[in-house]
Amino acid sequence: MTQLTAVSSGWVTYAACRDEDLSLFFPEDASKEQADQAIAVCHLCPIMWQCRSHARTAREPAGIWGGERQEERARAIRHSSGRRNLTCAECDEPFEAPNGRRKVCGQVCRIKRRRRQVVASNKRRGQAA
Ligand code: SF4
Ligand SMILES: [Zn+2]
Repeated sequence: MTQLTAVSSGWVTYAACRDEDLSLFFPEDASKEQADQAIAVCHLCPIMWQCRSHARTAREPAGIWGGERQEERARAIRHSSGRRNLTCAECDEPFEAPNGRRKVCGQVCRIKRRRRQVVASNKRRGQAA
C-alpha cells in the first residue's frame, strides 16, 4: 500500500486495497476490465469517501482512488465549485459535500460519532438516575 501510506492518515488502516495488487489501481493501458476490478474493491471499502476526497484535494494525477478514475476525478474537480469543502467532525480530514448538511466524511466516522453519542447519553442517564 505504498501509494496510500505515503499520504498517511489514520483512515488508511481501513483501506480495502491494502492487500490487493496495486497495479490494478494504476492500469497502465487504461484497461477497462482492470479498472472495473479496482472500482469494485473501492465500493467495498469503508473509507471510499475519505479516499476520494483526499485524491481530489491532493489532485492525484493518476490512478483509481475512492472508486473514481483519473478522468472522473478531473471532471469532478472542474465541477466542484458549487460544493462545500468541509472538515470531518470526527477525524478532521477534509471532505466535500454538495450541501453543508453532512458533518462527517463517511461511514467509519459516522459509526464512531454515533457510538460516542450513545456512550455520552448513557452516561447522562446514569448520572440522572
Ligand atoms: S477507496 Fe479504493 S483506492 Fe481508496 S483506499 Fe479504498 S480500496 Fe483503496
Ligand atoms: Zn472522518
